[in-house]
Amino acid sequence: MKYYSTNKIVPKVSFKQAVVKGLAPDKGLYFPSKIKKLPIGFFKNIGYFTNEEIAYEVIKQFIKGEIPEKDLKKIIEETINFDFPLVHIDENIFTLELFHGPTMAFKDVGARFMARCLGYFNKQDDTQKVTVLVATSGDTGGAVASGFLNVEGVDVVILYPSGKVSDVQEKQLTTLGKNITALEVNGTFDDCQAMVKTAFLDDELTKVLNLTSANSINVARWLPQMFYFFFAYKQLKNNNLNIVFSVPSGNFGNICAGLMAQKLGLPVKQFIASTNVNDVFPNYLETGNYIAKPSKQTISNAMDVGDPSNFVRILELFNNNIVELRKQLSSYSFTDDETIEAMKEIMKTSNYIADPHGAVGYLGLKKYEISQNTCGIFLETAHPVKFLDVIEPVLNIKIELPKQIKEVIDKEKIAFKIDNYNQLKQHLLTS
Ligand SMILES: *Cc1c(COP(=O)(O)O)cnc(C)c1O
Repeated sequence: MKYYSTNKIVPKVSFKQAVVKGLAPDKGLYFPSKIKKLPIGFFKNIGYFTNEEIAYEVIKQFIKGEIPEKDLKKIIEETINFDFPLVHIDENIFTLELFHGPTMAFKDVGARFMARCLGYFNKQDDTQKVTVLVATSGDTGGAVASGFLNVEGVDVVILYPSGKVSDVQEKQLTTLGKNITALEVNGTFDDCQAMVKTAFLDDELTKVLNLTSANSINVARWLPQMFYFFFAYKQLKNNNLNIVFSVPSGNFGNICAGLMAQKLGLPVKQFIASTNVNDVFPNYLETGNYIAKPSKQTISNAMDVGDPSNFVRILELFNNNIVELRKQLSSYSFTDDETIEAMKEIMKTSNYIADPHGAVGYLGLKKYEISQNTCGIFLETAHPVKFLDVIEPVLNIKIELPKQIKEVIDKEKIAFKIDNYNQLKQHLLTS
């Protein structure tokens, strides 16, 4: 499979090159040059397949010829070795829990898959070591740290804003050691991201280091997210219902994977991109104008994005046709107050603890007003324990720490403090 850049200036590349590069040299995002529908029999019989078999069928066309079947199956097995339960909430509303992985957010799947693909390519040609450089506002750092731990030939450097991630999140990215290094930046998330961007454009660095990114612009993080939508479909007992997915969205990688799943033939009636007050995308659908804005801080902070990076991929999927796009995708924005009310409502009606991101997804379904023969599924993208400071006072409960969190919370934090780009560069050149 070849991948082209959405800016269409640079030549097409292989899957491997797209993974190693991350962003295309013309600053476009890589996109598969062909998307083939899966056979009808696959959907009919999906109930008989294991998750691993489903994932293999879904991803194989995108990697064909570059990772042999046996190795790809092993990568998949190691990537999704936990549960993805569909939980009934109320009448025709379900939630798909994507937080049973090691860092308890849905980003685990993409990070683990990408790490293993890079590890595989590295073993094959023994090229130069790859350095993954990533800025995080919270969840990405932990998922990438855990996903890449002990992957041979790959070093990971994570930049995070000092004092601006939760305790759990900080422990998840600073306590692993080995090939994972954490840099605690005296600044904001935007400062971290700016430093990472500067590094990618710094010839002195890129001459000596194979730098790549690990955010959702990377095809190996983006594409495996398609699995979730198939796993949900498999668990729905009555396949005659129309399916509506509501995806809490920030950089729009997850929902863009859902739209890809639909391209592969998954019968989905409608997608809803649910956002917090960072409402660039709902505004775009309404007005036809895309106007990026600085991000605003909210209680669903993993979605505090003012210029969603996967927007261009969504346009690509619909050939820039906003009329067609509006038929498949609705989008609504919600305030923190509305999110808190939704968390209380879900608790009251269903005795279910939703995290703020899931609650935004729930609100999207409610606003869309699903009809009788339809079922609505909102994605639960993080475990409530990751947002204790928001949830416990709102719902007046105590949440028990799951074992994944207990394992890291008492470990010693190791992070190097940096103030500016030069210190990052020095660190990269000397370590
Ligand atoms: C990253 C994240 C999101 C947003 O996902 P995108 O693919 O960036 O739209 C939503 N919820 C949680 C908990 C996340 O960590």
